[in-house]
Amino acid sequence: MTDTLAPTLDSAEIVPERRIVTAIPGPRSQALQARRLAVIPVGVASAIPVFVERAHGAIVVDVDGNQFIDLGAGIGVMTIGHTDAAVVAAASAQLAAFTHVMFTVTPYEGYVRVAELLAEHTPGDFAKKTVLLNSGAEAVENAVKIARKFTGRTGVAVLDHAYHGRTNLTMAMTFKAMPYKLGFGPFASDVHHAPNSYPFHDGLSGADAAARTISYLEKSVGASDLACLVVEPIQGEGGFVVAAEGYFAALREWCTANRVVFVADEIQSGMARTGKYFAIEHFGVVPDMVLSAKGIAGGLPIAGVTGRADIMDASHPGGLGGTFAGNPVAAAAAIAVFDEIESKNLLAEGARIEGVLRPALLEMQKRHPVIGDVRGIGAMIAIELVEPGTHTPNAAAVSAITAFAAQNGVLLLSAGTYGNIIRFLPSLAISTELLNEALQVLDDALSAL
Ligand code: PMP
Repeated sequence: MTDTLAPTLDSAEIVPERRIVTAIPGPRSQALQARRLAVIPVGVASAIPVFVERAHGAIVVDVDGNQFIDLGAGIGVMTIGHTDAAVVAAASAQLAAFTHVMFTVTPYEGYVRVAELLAEHTPGDFAKKTVLLNSGAEAVENAVKIARKFTGRTGVAVLDHAYHGRTNLTMAMTFKAMPYKLGFGPFASDVHHAPNSYPFHDGLSGADAAARTISYLEKSVGASDLACLVVEPIQGEGGFVVAAEGYFAALREWCTANRVVFVADEIQSGMARTGKYFAIEHFGVVPDMVLSAKGIAGGLPIAGVTGRADIMDASHPGGLGGTFAGNPVAAAAAIAVFDEIESKNLLAEGARIEGVLRPALLEMQKRHPVIGDVRGIGAMIAIELVEPGTHTPNAAAVSAITAFAAQNGVLLLSAGTYGNIIRFLPSLAISTELLNEALQVLDDALSAL
C-alpha cells in the first residue's frame, strides 16, 4: 500500500512557528518508516524518524503536520533557508530550459558563472580556477588528485577529528571509525593523520599546537613526500572544533616553505555560515585550494574545488570531470544563492545568530555544568557536554537532549568523535524569535536530564 502525499500548501505559506500536533513520530511517519525498513538498508540511518513533507526558511513540516524549528539545516546545507524564492525560481527556469548536456561534451554558461563567483569570493588575490563536482567527498578526492599531479608527490596529510567523506580515499582521510569506516577497509594508502589544535582538550597555544602537528608530519612522513595538507577551518563532524589563534597561519607558512598544497575543506564551514564567505578568512590565512559543497546551491548537489590557476591547470585535458558534475540546474541554484547572499546582505546574519546563541549558551553553562565548552563562529556554534567538572565526554546527555528537542519541535544535531557535542548550524534566515524559542527548549531539555 502506498501513501503518496500531494502537498496541499505552497511551502512559502508555511507559518514560521513551532507546532506539535501528534506524538513524534506521528502515525504517517510511522507508516512510512515501516515501508522504509523493508526496502532501505539499516546502514542508511536517520537521526529523527519523522518524514518531511515541505519546508520553508527555518521551519520543516512533517507528513503529520508537525512543524519543527530546524537548527541543523540538513547538516549545514540550507544556509540561506529552505525553499528560498530566488533559488526555486532559478532552478525551475533552468529545469525547463535544459537539465543536462554534460559540460565535458558541450559546455554552458552556468558552470562558468559558478567558477567566476567562487574565484571572486574565495580568499586570495590571484588567478583561480574551479572544477565542479557533485558532492563534498568528490571535491576532496579531486583536490587530492590535482595536488598530486601538481607536486608529483603522493602523501596526504589530515588532522585528527577530521571528516572528509565516505568514499574510499575520503574514508581514509576521516578520523572516526564508527560509524564511518569500521569494516569498510582496506583504505587508500599514504594518508597521514596529524594531531590537531583542540583548545578545550589540549590547552595548547596555536603556536605550540602547530609545532606538534608539524613535528609529526616531519618526523613521521617527511615534508618532501607530502602533496597536500587538508584542513577544516572549523571542524564540522568533529564537533565545531576551533583551532587556537595562530595555528593555521603557522601551518600555512610551513606548507609554503615545503611546497605542500594547503587545502581548506570549507564544505561545512563555508558559504557565509560563519559571517564570512569562508571560515578560513577569520584566521587571516589564504589557502591554495578551497573546497565548497553543502550550502553552495540551496540543497541541489554541486561541489567545487577552487584553487590557484597554476595548481588547477596541472591536470592534463580530460583528467577531471564526471557525468553530472556541475549540473546546470544545480549551477543555476548556486548562482541564485550567491545573489541572495549579496542582495540580502546575509554575511551580516552570522554575527546576529552568534549574538543570540553564544551569550544564551554561556548563561546556560553556568546553570548546567554538563556544558563543558561553548565554541564556534557565526551560525556554526556548538556545546561540548561532559561529566560535570571534568573533560570526560557525555554522549548520553547529547542523546537525551536531541531526543527531547525532537519531541518538542526542535531539530538538533549531534557531532564529535565521542558523540558528546550538540552543534547549532541554523539557516541564516532563522528569526531571532525562533532561535530564542529553540534555546528555551534546549534549556528545558538540560533541566530534564
Ligand atoms: N568535508 C566536510 C568538512 C564535510 O562536513 C562533509 C560532509 N559532512 C564532507 C566533506 C563530505 O561531503 P558529502 O557528504 O557531500 O560527500
